[in-house]
Amino acid sequence: MSTASPPDTSTRHDQHGHWPQAESVEDFRHNLAAVHARMAAACRRVGRDPASVRLLPVSKTKPEATLRMAYAAGCRLLGENKPQEAYHKWEAMADLVDLHWSIIGHLQTNKAKYVARFASEFQALDSLRVAGALENRLQIEGRGMDVFVQVNTSGEASKFGLHPDDVAAFLRELPAFSALRVRGLMTLAVFSAEAGRVRECFVRLRGLRDRLRQQAPDGVGLDELSMGMSGDYEIAIEEGATVVRVGQAIFGARPLPDSHYWPPAGEIQSP
Ligand SMILES: *Cc1c(COP(=O)(O)O)cnc(C)c1O
Repeated sequence: MSTASPPDTSTRHDQHGHWPQAESVEDFRHNLAAVHARMAAACRRVGRDPASVRLLPVSKTKPEATLRMAYAAGCRLLGENKPQEAYHKWEAMADLVDLHWSIIGHLQTNKAKYVARFASEFQALDSLRVAGALENRLQIEGRGMDVFVQVNTSGEASKFGLHPDDVAAFLRELPAFSALRVRGLMTLAVFSAEAGRVRECFVRLRGLRDRLRQQAPDGVGLDELSMGMSGDYEIAIEEGATVVRVGQAIFGARPLPDSHYWPPAGEIQSP
């Protein structure tokens, strides 16, 4: 797919802080339609079926009233990166019985109990300790959960995730955790305005997935590639993403810089 010539040489990461706020159901409808249209265009450029890519709207830091507008505009799955924030939102919106939650941020073992109670998906699995903690709590809750293994494709110390070389051995351990349904791999690309550098991260994740697929243990699925966010999801789709995690392009800019979510700040590459 990378043989198709890239339409852009730059990402939209430098637009950070400038995405307009969605303040009505109509705004959400408009933003969702715009993102879906761009996703479909990216699919067409590389001959992919638009139905093969799922949009995960990311609602972190936004208040309950805003999330309810997103729901009214049709969102039935929301991504959050802080387990406790997500848990409180789930409790507050328990009346929306068909609203599901995906946790996309790093998890500490002592927070596994929150995630096991309500999340339908966890995209940032990167240690056996967390796998074990989730498994224990899911057994208690009598639930299962879809999981993605997070891979550090950028080499940045600030990014969570396994080194690509460690993923094969990690996957071999996962069948022991019967409540975890492994669906694929997840990554965050380098945060750069240079499309080429961002694209390399996505190519790396897809290459790794393609190699590991041959030898994946029974029950470990590697069909999914979660990669791409507001600034770079079209590039991710061109390189094979099956899930794009999009926050600001749907909800509007967040008040805090991304270094708040992916510490330490000093390690983040600015555009
Ligand atoms: C916040 C976040 C996103 C979405 O980023 P936007 O710039 O808002 O699109 C994607 N993935 C992860 C892991 C995140 O924490």
